[in-house]
Amino acid sequence: MRSKIIAANWKMNKDEYESKKLTFEILKHLNKNNNTSINKILCVPFPFLSTIINMCSGIEGLFVGAQNCSSNIDGPYTGEVSCLMLKSLSVRYTIVGHSERRDLFGESESLILEKIKRLVAENMIPIYCCGESLEERNKGFHIKKVLNQIEDSIFKLSTKEVKNVIIAYEPIWAIGTGKTADLEDIQEIHLAIRKGIRSKFGRSISKNISILYGGSINALNAKQIFDLSDVDGGLVGGASLNSQDFIDIVNSFN
Ligand code: PEP
Repeated sequence: MRSKIIAANWKMNKDEYESKKLTFEILKHLNKNNNTSINKILCVPFPFLSTIINMCSGIEGLFVGAQNCSSNIDGPYTGEVSCLMLKSLSVRYTIVGHSERRDLFGESESLILEKIKRLVAENMIPIYCCGESLEERNKGFHIKKVLNQIEDSIFKLSTKEVKNVIIAYEPIWAIGTGKTADLEDIQEIHLAIRKGIRSKFGRSISKNISILYGGSINALNAKQIFDLSDVDGGLVGGASLNSQDFIDIVNSFN
């Protein structure tokens, strides 16, 4: 069954005190009202993983994830963090292929594929991001662009591997800009992704894979987006840095 998921991407924001405060506030809300049918994943900066994992332990439906991982197993890769290190902290979810990593750190689809493979080999769950630029959207290439990305990474997985993947469609021009894609466009592209998955891996996988939308989700637009039939939740950046906004987004999902 497709899981309902709201993942928070804190990016490189908040120091240790602020991270604990935000987590504490989220926990306070969840103690009063925790819809356990929605998986909430806090993707936090590496240095705070342990602390936040400890704070969140035992809360049903709440998970702590990472925002990136190395494609290498271990060795001389200064500054990198391996899947095994994350796994040793009980991290299950990791964002991979975020457009900021593609654009600012030059990550290619083949590197992203290696990361996905490394994660699924460890029984971990990649949240794979894909999406088009404004130029590609304006030229009408958006669906083709996203399907090409998926063909170059997700389609290279085995049926067993793909079962562990979450896809997040994030139009680059909507990230952090306050602009969201039109509802019909979101549904159209999510359906195209699901159909692509069906043609490659079959109906059962396509019915069960979770496809999230990301790009300026907020408490006001979340419900309409989550009501779309092929949207299984969201990847939330800016609005996840405020506990009330994040909880309002989670609560708008039913
Ligand atoms: C993101 O960076 O994944 C994201 C969706 O950011 P925002 O919600 O701020 O657009």
